[in-house]
Amino acid sequence: MEYRKNDLVTLEIEDCGIDGEGIGKADGFTVFVKDAVIGDTVLAKIIKAKKNYGYGRLMEILKPSPYRVEPKCAIARQCGGCQLQALSYEKQLEFKENKVRGHLERIGGFSNLPMEPIIGMDEPYHYRNKAQFPVGRAKDGRIVTGFYAGRTHSIIENRDCALGVPENKEILDRVISHMEKYGIEPYDEGTGKGLVRHVLIRYGFFTGEVMVCLILNGTRLPREEELVETLREIPGMTSITININKKRSNVILGEELRLLWGKPYITDKIGDISYQISPLSFFQVNPRQTGKLYAKALEYADLHGEETVWDLYCGIGTISLFLAQKAKFVRGVEIIPAAIENARENARINGIENVEFFVGKAEEVLPEEYQRTGTYADVIVVDPPRKGCDETLLSTIVEMQPKRVVYVSCDSATLARDLRYLCDRGYELVRVCPVDQFGNTVHVETVCLLSNRKADSHIRLSLDMEEYYDIMDKEKAEQK
Ligand code: SAH
Repeated sequence: MEYRKNDLVTLEIEDCGIDGEGIGKADGFTVFVKDAVIGDTVLAKIIKAKKNYGYGRLMEILKPSPYRVEPKCAIARQCGGCQLQALSYEKQLEFKENKVRGHLERIGGFSNLPMEPIIGMDEPYHYRNKAQFPVGRAKDGRIVTGFYAGRTHSIIENRDCALGVPENKEILDRVISHMEKYGIEPYDEGTGKGLVRHVLIRYGFFTGEVMVCLILNGTRLPREEELVETLREIPGMTSITININKKRSNVILGEELRLLWGKPYITDKIGDISYQISPLSFFQVNPRQTGKLYAKALEYADLHGEETVWDLYCGIGTISLFLAQKAKFVRGVEIIPAAIENARENARINGIENVEFFVGKAEEVLPEEYQRTGTYADVIVVDPPRKGCDETLLSTIVEMQPKRVVYVSCDSATLARDLRYLCDRGYELVRVCPVDQFGNTVHVETVCLLSNRKADSHIRLSLDMEEYYDIMDKEKAEQK
């Protein structure tokens, strides 16, 4: 059956799309409905119809899903940052597990998947260690801060995001009242005038250290000392800085930093490794779950101290340093030079010496090193961005024949494509484990272990031979 614009349809929502929208079917016609959740029966009005699918507006929830819960955040719908807050956490995990399974089966063509149960979070709220709040003015003239709504640049007021730490509100209250007291203007994107653009806050979950960085369209803030006095009272305050960004673009941070008080960085830990994090550094936003994710990657890498490992797309070296604790030597490759500087510094402060880092594209550095030095790898770990691995890289991996490949992925569709490539060329998918790093959002991470069938068959072959010699020995003994 075909539907047209303005038709009303009754749908049972069975799945969830990439932006968290509900997906239902009416006589084979698929409809995407924002704000409907898995298990709902809804009445929707078609607002756009294509041949086999369309988009609908939620008109009425005819029968609410048994998995519906009251969102913790009153503005979850307008904000759009948490697409799944109205779905129970248990059901969110089930959805994520099914998403990974579905991609591996449909795109990767795998069956009988060696899936482990998804690793969920103990507490799917208040887990983000970083927040960047834009500052602006509301229509009524008040200074406001919060988050940009959906794809827009209008600020939804919120000082107390349910994913963030309670310190955020405390800090924002003090910054805004300082601005009000001294008539300090927020930045206006439209005119390029005004001073305060963003407030960046970071929190170290393991150390309790707090960082505040004010991003200014200028070099100085009026009465800086007074703001420092009040922010210092907040327990854990460690670093207060100004970041200067006079550019008229929507890039948040400028390059120049000025220390107002304390240290220029905070320290935090993932597993046993410490990291110094400056306002400009990349750091995983949920270090607790990241620790679990990397522990899984380490388990899959199965290191005993003799292995040579490559960690591709290594960022600030988080996985490399994790692996270096158990490997003989680790080489990391990352495209962003500043991240590699952080990686080397992180190795140094942790006293880790069996690592080496390369700046460049993974798909260029690895083939070049392989050509030049014939470098060898027991294990190769990849953790690419959403678009997955470049084919040149995958073909180099196949040439190098590592015993194991550990694939850490933030996009199960490109993961499925890349796993298929490797499995068509001598690798076997032996373990898959989804990990939830971002509760209440649609994102899911996955770790996979691929094992080299040839390397395996060597082992099997040598075992068979041993058995054969055993039998021969026995026969000889019997003949005597
Ligand atoms: N493993 C890291 C981060 C992985 S995110 C960690 O745990 O912290 C993916 C990383 O790949 C980013 O740091 C990004 O800058 C980098 N990247 C993107 N394209 C790349 C390429 N072609 N070669 C190498 N690194 C790349």
